[in-house]
Amino acid sequence: MKSVNPYNQETVFEIDELSDEQINQAIENADNRFSSWRKTSFSERSKLMFAAAEELKKNKREYAETMTLEMGKPIKQAIAEIEKCAWVCEYYAENAENHLSDRHIETDAEQSYVSYEPIGVVLAVMPWNYPYWQVFRFAAPALMAGNIGILKHASNVMHCGEKIQQIFERAGFPEYCFQHLPLNSDKVDGIIKNKKVKAVTLTGSKPAGSAVASKAGSEIKKSVLELGGSNALVVFPDCNMEETLKTTVQARFQNTGQSCIAGKRLLLHESIAEEFTEKYVSAVRDLKSGDPMNEDTYIGTVAREDLAKDLEEQLRKSVDAGAKVLTGGKRDKAYFEPTVVDGVTTDMTLFNEETFGPVIGITRFKTEEEALNLVNISAFGLGVSVFTQDLDRAKKLIPEFDDGAVFINELVKSDPRLPFGGTKISGYGRELSKDGIREFMNLKTVYIN
Ligand code: NDP
Repeated sequence: MKSVNPYNQETVFEIDELSDEQINQAIENADNRFSSWRKTSFSERSKLMFAAAEELKKNKREYAETMTLEMGKPIKQAIAEIEKCAWVCEYYAENAENHLSDRHIETDAEQSYVSYEPIGVVLAVMPWNYPYWQVFRFAAPALMAGNIGILKHASNVMHCGEKIQQIFERAGFPEYCFQHLPLNSDKVDGIIKNKKVKAVTLTGSKPAGSAVASKAGSEIKKSVLELGGSNALVVFPDCNMEETLKTTVQARFQNTGQSCIAGKRLLLHESIAEEFTEKYVSAVRDLKSGDPMNEDTYIGTVAREDLAKDLEEQLRKSVDAGAKVLTGGKRDKAYFEPTVVDGVTTDMTLFNEETFGPVIGITRFKTEEEALNLVNISAFGLGVSVFTQDLDRAKKLIPEFDDGAVFINELVKSDPRLPFGGTKISGYGRELSKDGIREFMNLKTVYIN
């Protein structure tokens, strides 16, 4: 397996795919490790998880560079991602015991309670867009809970996968607590089928999620799916214009637009649409593209050339249907110009498909009700951002949205303290916070008379 730098097409890493025998051995090792790991105390696990955080912070540049080389993330954003991974490790090192403490419930019994117990080996199928963060937000709670992690990472970020295993090794975790298994996706079914694998979590596209969840369902194994999104950014006339501009540009263009929770549909009230659009286009033109290794680059390349071509095709279809490119629109190999498109309607690809790159579509609305319909009409349901200074209006709207998250005057972002996940075709289950760590547990009902 080979990763190619999307910025200069050079091969950056090669690794042999595991054979079926090696995969089975890895699962066997993971399962054997579970029998001792589940008995370790929270304080012992915490010590190791804090050490993982330290390792991430100490060598953040080393880890960030693997991301930049394999998938083109600008180095400054890559370093920030590593720092966030350290945060999630620290968060669970501090809070896992509390999140998993027994829940006492009054009944007719002397004592009755729920205890949260680990289930064993959990498979994580992960994407390339946040190649460390997506893995750590699974691994930190899983390991703190006493579970064991095995990782099938995206084929283009195998070096990141190797490095993540190395982080846990360097932190002193016992062997096989966390393993990266270099393999292609055709091996995933066999792993899910393996009796020693108890559950699976996947972050990625709908087809991948659907394939993995179907297999898990057929084996009666739990799955958590964090799939795509097409978040709306709803801008009302009473927003703080300058702040909203800054936030909505970042919401779409950070990570070169390759985020499930990016704001992909900019919904503008007609009374401010013209002024806002003009300023938005100007801010987007100021975003600096370039070599992702340069500290001042904000827009790198898209992670793979085929993905940039897909985006080009989505744009072409919308333009053919009448949308108008206000800035950008051109592709050079894996580089895609930051692009703003006006006149996007609900029947266009830019509106109803997930776009994974630096392209945003603008749609205008007249009334609150129309804005609400535009948000909810999407097949996705990850999150929505609303920009208004009228908090009564915002609070009235919150229960009306179908999405898994509503952020007022802020971009949708993940935070270890808050649950994260979607509705509709954006998936099910939650990651992070107390809810996330409880996904892969045996909620054991205990009744003592
Ligand atoms: P995929 O969803 O195909 O890849 C995500 C992960 O799933 C990878 O590890 C991949 O492995 C694996 N995978 C893919 N198909 C299967 C399968 N049938 N069974 C088991 N595992 C599978 O994403 P792509 O890289 O192809 O990106 C395509 C689109 O998906 C993007 O343009 C974007 O719209 C969306 N996406 C959304 C993400 C999110 O954060 N929600 C993240 C990444 C992509 P392998 O790499 O070996 O194929």
